[in-house]
Amino acid sequence: MIIVMKRGATPEELQAVVRQVEELGFRTHVSQGEERTIVGLIGDERPLMENLHRFELMQGVERVLPILRPYKLASREFHPEDTQIQVNGQTIGGRRVVVIAGPCAVESRDQILEAAWAVREAGASFLRGGAFKPRTSPYSFQGLGEEGLELLAEAREATGLGIVTKVMAPEQVPLVARYADILQVGTRNMQNYSRLHAVGEAKKPVLLKRGWMSTLEEWLMAAEYILSHSNHQVILCERGIRTFETYTRNTLDINAVPALKQLTHLPVMVDPSHGTGRWELVTPVARAAVAAGADGLLVEVHPHPEAAFSDGAQSLKPCRFKALMEEIRRVAEAVGREV
Ligand code: PEP
Ligand code: MN
Repeated sequence: MIIVMKRGATPEELQAVVRQVEELGFRTHVSQGEERTIVGLIGDERPLMENLHRFELMQGVERVLPILRPYKLASREFHPEDTQIQVNGQTIGGRRVVVIAGPCAVESRDQILEAAWAVREAGASFLRGGAFKPRTSPYSFQGLGEEGLELLAEAREATGLGIVTKVMAPEQVPLVARYADILQVGTRNMQNYSRLHAVGEAKKPVLLKRGWMSTLEEWLMAAEYILSHSNHQVILCERGIRTFETYTRNTLDINAVPALKQLTHLPVMVDPSHGTGRWELVTPVARAAVAAGADGLLVEVHPHPEAAFSDGAQSLKPCRFKALMEEIRRVAEAVGREV
């Protein structure tokens, strides 16, 4: 439920509403917009439904609205303004389209440093790279583990780029959070609820990738788990879903971008690399994502894709990534954004 305060309601009136709600055992989330202040109630509101008018009678209250969607904190009603996340000197969810780029996995010191300098030079703001890799086969490269995290930290020291890397298990979250600026939850773990609780507790920005078999509602419910720990720094990342089409690795759901912009205030990113599985499709799909309103992109870039331990087929060479950045810059300008 949300309580919409009147334009011009005083701080005392707002305080009185918050106090009343908290006395009833709810937590509150106050969203101070340019137009209106909204008080969101967090907790089981069913017993209150009969009694909504008690708030409507309070000074300064304009209206009381139930939120009908199953996700509350993630919903646009709860928080009408776009959420902006400040991390490592960057704003995610603002006017600028933010680009996260780097190899699928951290493979060696030389590889990650070469990738970091290349993506920085092309204009990326964050370096990605898996230290713990969830592979379909247990015999595939599983990542360098903590050594990979140390190499990412070294790359951050050298280049100033923020670090985005994946957490594989809930007990790993404190370790990864010591190194990463943004914790990534991968597609295979979007509905791993103990992981979602753990990243919620970490109080660091979380990049939540869409489960490859998940609906938008299931995805937003997963975000709700993280938000329910008072970690409001959730970034959604569309990375393609499984359909009957097999030519591409996944089918990137471009509809998700404008649909999520209606449903939620959270920033929305797009991963055209896993979304297509083919490097030659990455740039056109990246352009489409920016045109559709994405707040950022996650792109796999490898200094030598032909030698990559994983996902070489969808990784861009640095020169091609540079061209991608140029192309999305023009698209961003056309839709009132910048890169
Ligand atoms: C990744 O970004 O490294 C990754 C494995 O992505 P996903 O979880 O979307 O497959
Ligand atoms: Mn990958």
